[in-house]
Amino acid sequence: MLHMPKLVDPFAREVTYLRVSVTDRCDLRCFYCMSENMTFLPKKELLSLEELDRLCTTFIDMGVSKLRVTGGEPLVRRGIMTFFDDMSRHLASGALKELTLTTNATQLHKFAQPLKDAGVKRVNVSLDTLDEEKFAEITRWGRFRQVMEGIDAADKAGLSIKINAVALKGTNDDEVHKMVEWCGQRGFDVTFIEVMPMGDMGDADRRDQYWSLKDVREELATNWTLTDIPLNTGGPANYVRVEETGGRVGFITPLTHNFCESCNRVRLDCKGQLHMCLGQEDDADMRKVLRDNPDDNQPLRDAINKAIARKPKGHDFDYSRQQIQGEMRRHMSHTGG
Ligand code: SAM
Ligand code: SF4
Repeated sequence: MLHMPKLVDPFAREVTYLRVSVTDRCDLRCFYCMSENMTFLPKKELLSLEELDRLCTTFIDMGVSKLRVTGGEPLVRRGIMTFFDDMSRHLASGALKELTLTTNATQLHKFAQPLKDAGVKRVNVSLDTLDEEKFAEITRWGRFRQVMEGIDAADKAGLSIKINAVALKGTNDDEVHKMVEWCGQRGFDVTFIEVMPMGDMGDADRRDQYWSLKDVREELATNWTLTDIPLNTGGPANYVRVEETGGRVGFITPLTHNFCESCNRVRLDCKGQLHMCLGQEDDADMRKVLRDNPDDNQPLRDAINKAIARKPKGHDFDYSRQQIQGEMRRHMSHTGG
C-alpha cells in the first residue's frame, strides 16, 4: 500500500490545510482590517512566486491536501495566475484535493474563468453589506458594482460561492435577513464572522463593533427556520440550514465558541513566516530556510516538522473582560484570513 505522509501536531491533530497569504497589499481598506494609510512591505520581503511554489509543494508532499490562497487581496498580486496554474499539477496528481481562495471579488470579473480553468471549484467572497453606500463606507475605496460583476462572473464560470460577512454592530446588523435572503436566492452559502481583535485600529474600540454571533443567530431565528446541520467543510464554522431558502448559513465564532480542538490548519504569511495558530504570536521563519538552502528541500522539511511540533493547543481571545484578552498586533491582511 502507498504510504501517505502525515503532519501531526502534539495534540494528535493532523495538519492537512495550509492557508497562504500571497500579498499584504489590497485595493480596499475595510475599516476593521486596515487603516487608510498602510505601509506595505518591499517586494524582497515577500516570498517570490517560485518560493511560494516550492514551499507549498513541500507542504503538499508532507500531507497537506487543501490550500487556500488569501492576502491582503490575493488577486492583486502580480502574476498570481502563474501560481494557481502551477498548483494545478498537484490537483492533477491527486495529492491536492482542494485549491481555493478568499477574495474581495474586485478582480473576479477578470480572474473567475482562469481560476476555474486552473481547477479552483469554490471561492470565498468577503462581502459585508448589500448596500452600495454602506459598502463604500466599510471598504473606504470599494466600488460595489465591480464586486457584484465579479460575483456574477464567478457564478457564470461555475465556481461555487460562499459569502463571508463580518458581523458589525451598528453597521450591518440591520441587513442580516437581507443577506440570508439574497444568498438563498443566488444559491450561495453565507458565513457570518465575529470581528476579531487584530491589527491596530487607532482610536476605534473593537468592543463597540463586536456583535456576538449568538445574538446574530437569535435575530435570524425571528424570521427564518434554522436547522442545525453537521457539515464539515474542514473549516471552523457551525452550519444551519434555512428551511425557507434551502440555503446554508455558517457561524464562525472564535470568541464565543472555541473551535481549536479540531484545528487542522496552519498559516503562511506573505513574508514566509509560518503561524501555527492565528491567535498566538509564535511563528517559524520558512523564508530563511528557503533562501539559505536553494537546492535542498530537506532543511525545509525539517523546519516544517519542527514548527508543527510547536503548534499550540489553542488561542485566547476574549472580549468579555475589561481588557481585550489575547489581542494581536498582527493585521489579518498579513497573516491572511
Ligand atoms: N482580501 C480578501 C478578502 O477580503 O476576502 C482576503 C483577505 S481578508 C484579510 C480575509 C477575511 O478576513 C475577510 O473575510 C475579512 O472580512 C476578514 N477579516 C479581516 N479583518 C478581520 C477582523 N478584524 N475580524 C474578523 N474578520 C476579519
Ligand atoms: Fe482588503 Fe480583505 Fe482586508 Fe478588506 S478584509 S481590507 S478586502 S484584505
